[in-house]
Amino acid sequence: MHWAEAEARKLTKRKEKEHIIATAITPSGPIHLGNMREMLTAEAIYRSLKKLSESCELIFIADNWDPLRRVYPYLDTSYEKWVGMPLSEIPCPCGKHSNYGEHWLQPFLDSIDRLGVQPIIYRAQNLYLEGFYTEAIKTSLEKKDQIRTTIEAISQRKLPANWIPLNIRCEQCKRLTLTSIVDEDIKYPLISYKCKCGFEGKADLRKPGVGKLPWRIEWPARWKLFGVTFEACGKDLAAAGGAWQTGEAIAQEVFNYSPPNNLTYEFIYLKGRGPMHSSTGIAILPSELLNILSPVELRFLFMKQHPNKHLEFDPLFGVLDLVDEWDRWEGSFFSGKKSRSGMKDLSEIYELSQPHELPESKPINVSYRHLVIVTQLADDFSSVRSILERSGFIPKGVDDAQLALLKRRAQLVRNWVKHFAPSNIKFELKKEIPNLDLSEDEKKFLSKLFERIGYADWSAEVLHSCIYEAIKEANIQPQIAFRSIYKIFLDTERGPRVGYFLASLSKDFVKERIRKATKV
Ligand SMILES: [Zn+2]
Ligand SMILES: [Zn+2]
Repeated sequence: MHWAEAEARKLTKRKEKEHIIATAITPSGPIHLGNMREMLTAEAIYRSLKKLSESCELIFIADNWDPLRRVYPYLDTSYEKWVGMPLSEIPCPCGKHSNYGEHWLQPFLDSIDRLGVQPIIYRAQNLYLEGFYTEAIKTSLEKKDQIRTTIEAISQRKLPANWIPLNIRCEQCKRLTLTSIVDEDIKYPLISYKCKCGFEGKADLRKPGVGKLPWRIEWPARWKLFGVTFEACGKDLAAAGGAWQTGEAIAQEVFNYSPPNNLTYEFIYLKGRGPMHSSTGIAILPSELLNILSPVELRFLFMKQHPNKHLEFDPLFGVLDLVDEWDRWEGSFFSGKKSRSGMKDLSEIYELSQPHELPESKPINVSYRHLVIVTQLADDFSSVRSILERSGFIPKGVDDAQLALLKRRAQLVRNWVKHFAPSNIKFELKKEIPNLDLSEDEKKFLSKLFERIGYADWSAEVLHSCIYEAIKEANIQPQIAFRSIYKIFLDTERGPRVGYFLASLSKDFVKERIRKATKV
């Protein structure tokens, strides 16, 4: 059984009228691939619940009422003056968004839309300013001693003597992080507080937006207020003594709410760099990936393995391997196989990887590895198409829908070559023969090759055989032979797999180039 269905089946045992599957992100910086794991994990479970005919909703809370904690490395030093202010009250760094939170949120929302994820979106700023949390703030203050005891016992952390379960927002400087209460004896609804900016005043807790619940209390309050029945949680928060554990206790003891089911997900690592984290700059954004992978392949990355599995993402050759793997799954799915060795839950994973409907027929999948060669030889898609037709990679007369998919894939490969490919796989076909100094052995090999390819079928396999026969006849080392081919076409000593490379060029062009090279 696929992991999403297993979680959905566990949820049905709660006997709820409706399931609320929650996800949340604090948009304080670039929202990266690791954050996407939470979203796609939740969405897969939501889809599985719907398949089991359960009533359910997927919600996403953008915590844009959280304060800016510090000037992150990706921010201008001028942001110093905004530290402590809610993210929604800070200007956007580029000037194109309504505020700082939206600046990071919008690209993420665009990406999930392309991935077919459509949650109901809430912004914490609106929730606070509309009074959504006002009652929970009252309850928390009434039970502040109990909350303190619970947090201190579970987290093994002593809270300050004047701690209360609310961060009051200073009326003067508007910061959430600089205030403390003056009198420990709180007379609801008014609390006297002082701020490090020098202001002293009284906060009226009945007024919306007067402050913000600290994270360990806001989380369980939110479960209760939205009726959350499932939320995935990163392994840092799920650790012993962490916010999930205190949240469970506070949900029951303070808000009289049965905590949601949980699934802990692992971080995503960027190969050779470490866990992705926006504050360290080790991050890759979903929007960057959707520039080199189609939405199905990006979803597949997350659907094919359990969220508690360590995932190391390699934007270099790992991308090529991922797409090869996807193509094999797609081939197996359309061949009607229920499973294949090493492929568990084949049809479930195939379906969950689709952003929308299942395709009616199998898309033509020319491998990324081959398109890496072809797109570097062709200036536009019509040339890509001619090369693929000529070398037998696609049949002639492919329909428009299939061609559109292939065109998109060719563009994704071009983007990958431009932004991620290591320099040793980039090449440029020389329109004219380079100035060369070929040895007699090289010329001999090329002459033999010229004779052989004259009547050969134009395919990578046949050309590969021709090359090996010519090597034998000329009695030279294979690497010298390959080098002579790269030299005359690319003016380099290395290049792509030579059979595929030559098959991608026209026969006349190849013959003419070899003829010129051997006559020089
Ligand atoms: Zn912006
Ligand atoms: Zn202040």
